[in-house]
Amino acid sequence: MEKKFSFAEQPKRVKIIYALAIAILCITAIVIGLVSAAQQKDELPPENNTPPVTEGGEGGEAEKPTVYLAPAVGTVTVTHSNDAPVFSPTLGEWRIHTGIDIATPEGAEVRSIAAGKVTKVYTHPMHGMTVEIDHGADVVSVYSNLATKVAVKEGDTVKPGTKLGTVGDTSVKELADEPHLHFEVRLKGACIDPLGIISEESKKASFGME
Ligand SMILES: [Zn+2]
Repeated sequence: MEKKFSFAEQPKRVKIIYALAIAILCITAIVIGLVSAAQQKDELPPENNTPPVTEGGEGGEAEKPTVYLAPAVGTVTVTHSNDAPVFSPTLGEWRIHTGIDIATPEGAEVRSIAAGKVTKVYTHPMHGMTVEIDHGADVVSVYSNLATKVAVKEGDTVKPGTKLGTVGDTSVKELADEPHLHFEVRLKGACIDPLGIISEESKKASFGME
């Protein structure tokens, strides 16, 4: 007497084997799927695998440089004073000094304190030939009293230590002073003390400051 196959009538042991076989088939199918997907990914041309590079890192915002160098080698003769006025021999009056003066011979090299972009090259009515560099993160460095012939132009990208020009005597405001670089740093548009951000190592090496 022939009996039709009926799953329900199979012994428990056989049912378990069936269930296991189906489970193994499913797992194998999933594994094969994952492996082939991974292989496909590997086969893509490398340029399609590279995420788009945004200037200055994530979010498109430039990262703040961590180390700022001294802009010139010399002696800091006039310090920054937003509050306490400094006497100007040229003008014969006491004025606040928005930057620092680094006494150094005419022709001495002036270098960028960090990576950035040259935003302005112009003759300031008081401070003379001036170069401004935007370092991102709202930090701008300003180099004044340069020789007329500067080494960079607006839009140039600079690295830490890129030569910007040389010290000149183009400042009207500080004409009577010895040859020097008038140097300012602005944070969110406000002048801050440049000595507060230049690295201790660089101050020691370039200004002889301990
Ligand atoms: Zn000055």
